[in-house]
Amino acid sequence: MLLSDKVCLITGAASLRGIGRATARLFAEHGGRVVILDLDAGQAEAAAREIGPDHLGLACNVVDRAACQRAADEVVGRFGRIDVLVNNAGITQPLKIMDIAPENYDAVTDVNLRGTLYMSQAVIPQMRAQQSGSIVCMSSVSAQRGGGIFGGPHYSAAKGGVLGLCKAMARELGPDGIRANSVTPGLIQTDITGGKLTDALKAEIIKGIPLARLGVADDVAKACLFLASDLSAYTTGAVIDVNGGMLI
Ligand code: NAD
Repeated sequence: MLLSDKVCLITGAASLRGIGRATARLFAEHGGRVVILDLDAGQAEAAAREIGPDHLGLACNVVDRAACQRAADEVVGRFGRIDVLVNNAGITQPLKIMDIAPENYDAVTDVNLRGTLYMSQAVIPQMRAQQSGSIVCMSSVSAQRGGGIFGGPHYSAAKGGVLGLCKAMARELGPDGIRANSVTPGLIQTDITGGKLTDALKAEIIKGIPLARLGVADDVAKACLFLASDLSAYTTGAVIDVNGGMLI
C-alpha cells in the first residue's frame, strides 16, 4: 500500500466528478487516511463517508487563513500528524482580458493562489516537526499555454503563480524533509469543464491531443498518488504534465 497510515489532506475534494474527489478515492484505496476539505461541511462529510469509514470531511474555505489553520489543527488533534497536502481547490472564469474586473481577478487569484499559500502555511509547521511531508499543488496547462477554453487570463496568471510558489516551497522546505511538486492537467472532464463541451468542440480539441482523448479525473489522481507517496522520494520542485501530449 503506497500510502499506508499516511494522513492526506485534499482541498476542494467534495465535488462528485472532480479531480480532488478522484484523488481522495485513490489515496484511500492505497491505505491513506483522507481528510476532505471543501466549502460546505455537509458535502465534505458525505464525500468522506462515501470513500470509507476512516476518513474525515471538514468545512474549509482556503481563502480564509484562520479556517485553514483550524482545519490543520483539528487533523493534528485527531490523527497526530499530516503527511500529504494536495492543494486542489480552484475556480475558473471564462473571461477575455478586457473583461476582467477587479472582483474577477480577486476571486480567481484568491482561491487558486492565495488558498495554496494559506493551506500550505497551515500544514508546514507540523510537517517540519515530523521532518517529512509532501505538498502537491494543482496548476494547469493554462499556466503553460497562456490561456485555455475555460480559464481566462487571470486563471492562467494565478496557476502560473502556483508553479512559482510551489518551486519556492520546494527550495525552502527541502532541508526540512518536505517535498513540493505541481501537477499541470490538460483538459479533464469534470464539473468545471463537463457540461460546457459540445461534441463539435470536443472533436476540435481532441485534434490537438496526441493521445486523442480528453483526460479523466483519475488520470490526474494517479500523478498525485506518485507525488504523495515515497515513489517520488527524490522528486521536488517538479512539474508533472497530465495533458495527453497537448504541449508537444
Ligand atoms: P471542480 O469544480 O469539480 O472541483 C473544485 C472544488 O473546489 C469544488 O469541490 C469546490 O467546491 C472547491 N472549492 C472552490 N472554492 C473553494 C474554496 N474557496 N475553498 C475550498 N474549496 C473550494 O473542479 P476540478 O476540475 O476537479 O478542478 C480541480 C483543480 O484542478 C482546480 O484547481 C482546477 O483549476 C484544476 N484544473 C482542472 C482542469 C480541468 O480540466 N478540469 C484542468 C487544469 C487544472
